[in-house]
Amino acid sequence: MFHIKKTLKPAYHELQDYDILSYYKLTAISQACGRLAQMKKDIKKGKKPKSPFVRKPYLVSCYGFKINGILLSFPVRNREFANILLNDHVAGILSDPLITPRSFTITLQSLSVSIFKDVTPIIPEKTIGIDRNLRNVTFGNDEKVIQVNTSELLKIKENYAHVKSTFTRNDHRIRKKVTSKLGKRQINRIKQRIHRISKSIVNYAKKQKTAIIFEDLKGIRKLYRKGNGQGNKFRRKLNSWSFYELERQVSYKAAWEGIPFCKIDPRRTSIDCPRCGGRLQGDRQKHRDLWCGNCKRWRDRDVVAALNISCKGLHRFCNPQGDTGEAMRGNLDGPVILRVDVSKLVTDW
Ligand SMILES: [Zn+2]
Repeated sequence: MFHIKKTLKPAYHELQDYDILSYYKLTAISQACGRLAQMKKDIKKGKKPKSPFVRKPYLVSCYGFKINGILLSFPVRNREFANILLNDHVAGILSDPLITPRSFTITLQSLSVSIFKDVTPIIPEKTIGIDRNLRNVTFGNDEKVIQVNTSELLKIKENYAHVKSTFTRNDHRIRKKVTSKLGKRQINRIKQRIHRISKSIVNYAKKQKTAIIFEDLKGIRKLYRKGNGQGNKFRRKLNSWSFYELERQVSYKAAWEGIPFCKIDPRRTSIDCPRCGGRLQGDRQKHRDLWCGNCKRWRDRDVVAALNISCKGLHRFCNPQGDTGEAMRGNLDGPVILRVDVSKLVTDW
């Protein structure tokens, strides 16, 4: 049932001297294995990790514990249990019959319970494409497109960079302390807003029974490196955007609801017309808009990208053997475009 690595076998015998339940010894070994594995990974990456240690005591286990309504009871010795009172929020979540608690972790200050949910995956009829860029997050398909303005996030970051640059005291320890505190606050403010966006995307997909399609942005950081001919400010802006954070949040929230999630190749998603498949032309004056010569109309660059991502996903997801042209042919009138601000985001679409 439990595989102990060769290197840790002696440790298991040492643990025999301790008067604790045997399955706590097993989890202790598995925790140690995890730390060793992480250390090996770090060494492979060329880092020089210190030998692992545990800073604060904690107890983690997936065996022998029970949740009785508002109590978590776990064994301390043979047939002897300790109880912890759960708060209403946690007890409420755990009362869901679809949710099974799998393990618990107790530290000096906290208790966390990891849970498993048996989800029936939604069979999607449609897809929504998600386009991320500096100014907004655009998502939807040929029926409806929702554009969430994210310039507020950009402002938070610019503000933080400005405050950091005005710090003049010449003491690197204090500087480090202050900037790390500011940085953490900044990250929290941004994460909170991204949570709002990811939640609304997942809710929308759930309501419309659609799959969620992202662009695979592998290598985006490489595009904005030093020496690529872009300005410092521009590079900072692009490299500080939390492209992956949104994707990470949407993917786990979607998995929790049983909504299919996939990533597609981003090539040509911002140069082809989503309606006729022709090549779009840019314009210097109207640089957010693109012109389609066949359809004789201007289109918003970000909406075009979202529609193309949705189409590509639909083709791959719902109709893998089907005709590309069929999947490409969108709504003739074009989608309804809804523009909202991240600070005023509501999710009843
Ligand atoms: Zn066209």
